[in-house]
Amino acid sequence: MSGNFLDYKTALEVLKTEVRDGLSAEELMDPQISGGLTFNDFLILPGFIDFSADKVDCEVNISRNFRIKTPFVSSPMDTVTETSMAINMALLGGVGVLHNNCSADEQADMVRSVKKFENGFITDPIVISPETTLGEVWALKDKYAFSGFPVTEDGKLNSKLLGILTSRDIQFIYDSETKVSDLMTCELVVAQEGVTLEEANQILRESKKGKLPIVNGNYECVALLSRSDLLKNRNFPLASKRPHSKQLVCAAAIGTRPDDRERLAKLVDAGLDIVIIDSSQGNSSYQIEMIKYIKETYGNRIDVIAGNVVTREQAANLIAAGADGLRVGMGSGSICITQEVMAVGRPLGTAVYRIAKFARQFGVPVIADGGIQNVGHITKALALGASTVMMGSLLAGTAESPGEYFYHEGKRLKKFRGMGSLDAMEKGGPNAKENSGSMKRYFSESDSIKVAQGVAGAVVDKGSIRKFVPYLFAGLQHGLQDIGVRSIKDLQEGVYNSVVRFEKRTAAAQLEGGVHGLHSYEKRLFS
Ligand code: GDP
Ligand code: GDP
Ligand code: 5GP
Repeated sequence: MSGNFLDYKTALEVLKTEVRDGLSAEELMDPQISGGLTFNDFLILPGFIDFSADKVDCEVNISRNFRIKTPFVSSPMDTVTETSMAINMALLGGVGVLHNNCSADEQADMVRSVKKFENGFITDPIVISPETTLGEVWALKDKYAFSGFPVTEDGKLNSKLLGILTSRDIQFIYDSETKVSDLMTCELVVAQEGVTLEEANQILRESKKGKLPIVNGNYECVALLSRSDLLKNRNFPLASKRPHSKQLVCAAAIGTRPDDRERLAKLVDAGLDIVIIDSSQGNSSYQIEMIKYIKETYGNRIDVIAGNVVTREQAANLIAAGADGLRVGMGSGSICITQEVMAVGRPLGTAVYRIAKFARQFGVPVIADGGIQNVGHITKALALGASTVMMGSLLAGTAESPGEYFYHEGKRLKKFRGMGSLDAMEKGGPNAKENSGSMKRYFSESDSIKVAQGVAGAVVDKGSIRKFVPYLFAGLQHGLQDIGVRSIKDLQEGVYNSVVRFEKRTAAAQLEGGVHGLHSYEKRLFS
């Protein structure tokens, strides 16, 4: 090239004299120009990289008092989140919200299983007596899925420790009448009450035993430590856990009817940390009363996430009532027909941006819910101010989602259905003995005709979330690296300061951004 060019060294100076490339979030979301936007309507412009993707910090608040290391939440749908999904989401750094399309007792059992899965000190271990029979031990093993039991004089906690029975002690014994006194190991490594968790863990590591009973001055058993918990802690460094108990964070959905108060009492008794009030239109007097009731009854014992909402006006009501978090989205879910049938809703991008910008003034985090289809959507939802994303279809069809796989036209599938589908409301959850929650979310009792708000279908087998969620995490880290931010916090500050820039996508640009021009291709997302 020839001609009169500026000195290349002045490029940065010249840049300062020009209007910034791209749009700020506020410009992007200008309702006069845009109307409602969703994720495919825009892109985030890349920034400057001087760090590696694996250093990107994705810690966020799911609600006012709960901080988690990945921004992933599984939806309270009966084909998405039961015990296995909730445990694995928490192990991988997110949260699974247990659905309520089942009886209160069934839901409370799920909460209990999540809370018991991992522990620091097990403060209420199942204890047996020397008179317990092997048959009774087998039954306990079946019920609780563990087989290490301290043996005390009267078979209770806070009673003299006599021995311990573990799976190895009973491996080759077949007579169900055999007494524990004939099987237990009596030479024990124990730790004294008052020992710190770090010290107890060290004793357990050095002892090479599977369990460490904790005793008081009278040699009475007061707690237990399990080696498998040390492994869980090592294998899942991102896990969402309570700081003292080291138990997994557990969330569950309830409705807004009077009997949901009894349901909640059972869930809290089982150890619940976060309750999500599940309503497709959350701005109602029922919900406001429910939030106030929960705050008055449980104080700071649990966090309340309210919703769903899509406007600031709706959000303000729930914030004023005391919500610790908001679930944002209406009609954008993959199985949802609300916008078509009810004519209400809002594109998720706009809803998240408007509400998150408002709610952050009060320290209330926002969950982007419904329509998250890929990693890019997650990054965009967070850029628009969401703290976490809630996923239904993306996590359905995994090994951890409820229901059995079946084959159709050569494909391995699992059922996936909207909680407002007639299917869900008529039948209850796949493992439920009784129907409950979804009927309340979408119908009122006086309705003589039930108007469906969702469909029932199937999704393809996605394997285990133990691979899929780490893929989402790595994908998100790479997205933030490209944007040039080292954390979700930096991303959102960059957006609010107009440093992180956006661009709108025309229909042609969207086509250009997808795979095109190939005869055929295979889309493998990760390995
Ligand atoms: P960490 O060392 O990064 O895990 O830091 P934490 O604050 O989470 O843990 C403090 C102590 O508790 C360390 O000694 C951990 O090994 C231990 N710890 C963390 N999680 C668990 C758990 O689930 N069970 C047990 N027994 N110990 C745990
Ligand atoms: P076990 O060796 O058969 O007892 O089972 P594992 O040690 O593999 O697993 C026990 C898991 O269950 C650990 O993560 C414990 O924290 C958890 N757990 C929860 N409550 C209890 C309890 O009362 N007793 C025992 N042994 N484990 C419990
Ligand atoms: P997805 O991630 O599958 O796109 O959307 C999941 C979200 O859709 C759920 O978290 C919930 O908010 C919403 N949802 C679940 N079932 C129904 C339904 O039957 N109707 C409607 N309108 N929304 C639903």
